[in-house]
Amino acid sequence: MKKLKIPAAVLAVLALSACASVEEYPEETDAIPVLGDNIISSEPLAHETAAPDTEAVSETSETSDTVTEISKPAETWTDSEEPPIELPVQTEEENDPDSIEITAIELTYYEITLEEGDSSMPIVTMYPEDAPDKSEIWSSSDESVAEVDDIGNITAISEGECIIKVQSAVSPDVYAEVSVTVTAAPETEETEAPESIESDTQLTYIDGILIANKTYALPADYAPGVDPDAQAAFDKMQSAAAAEGLNIYISSGYRSYDYQAGLYERYVERSGKAEADRYSARPGHSEHQTGLAFDLNTIDITFADTAEYDWLKVHCAEYGFIIRYPENGESVTGYMYEPWHIRYLGTDTAKKVYDSGLTLEEYLGIDSKYSE
Ligand SMILES: [Zn+2]
Repeated sequence: MKKLKIPAAVLAVLALSACASVEEYPEETDAIPVLGDNIISSEPLAHETAAPDTEAVSETSETSDTVTEISKPAETWTDSEEPPIELPVQTEEENDPDSIEITAIELTYYEITLEEGDSSMPIVTMYPEDAPDKSEIWSSSDESVAEVDDIGNITAISEGECIIKVQSAVSPDVYAEVSVTVTAAPETEETEAPESIESDTQLTYIDGILIANKTYALPADYAPGVDPDAQAAFDKMQSAAAAEGLNIYISSGYRSYDYQAGLYERYVERSGKAEADRYSARPGHSEHQTGLAFDLNTIDITFADTAEYDWLKVHCAEYGFIIRYPENGESVTGYMYEPWHIRYLGTDTAKKVYDSGLTLEEYLGIDSKYSE
């Protein structure tokens, strides 16, 4: 019966975030701090959706307009077929400090569209905030469409729709759901375009490191998806950060050639080619196409001011990652400072690069410049 209350809160939050969600998704990209007016509206902002308490109140006041015959509006349970008898269940729990149960779960989004192979993770907030046990149980209604791991990282498997559910481990009746739509990776289109500019491009490895920068492109049909070692290393790093109370998550992972082509095109329309080239890769030149690069948290310069970034800067090499486009590195890497973009190199190489204090280009002695 408690369920009845939760969907009400969730619905209210949903209504709030629904308008933002359409704008949000395309911004899972390398964004531009300078022009990023709508970039900043990506996931983390959803934190600002009001807490369930507030929502519950506003919903009550809205609906109570229509239930005029009720004499004590403050205590009214607005669903007429549900008598207020349900409430004591919750009161009982609140009175026993030893068994504070979870009463509501809020997510940073409730629907998402992912391309096959892509991953995304909503942030979970459980209420009451002082509950001692906020363990989560994640499940997928159809694992052939999308899988979810123990910490809520959703991975799109194949075209279709499914529901990803997170329940409170202590109060399994309390849950929230994300509607996931998985779209096909545009592989067929790639193979149908043999005359593509990049079609005869070869993969470039230097010292065993796969390079994707402005000088070295990837073939259009190179579509490896997220590298499993990079994903495993990220998961480990995420857990280590979580143990220190820090929340790092992937906002953008693997991106196909065609996806990058669309992205770059939009950025060129918005800010012109010269400016777009400073922050967005041309198709074939994006490190995201290697499956070895991740954009973390807020894809915005403000990420540099977070405790998460401070930790990442120092520790990511221990897990095999480097901050790929550091401050003041634009003349060498070809890209503006991107504190949120990390690249997997494996721990040995990542530590060497980190210890050198150099960018990857300087470390390997290579360029990153478009030929035209
Ligand atoms: Zn990136």
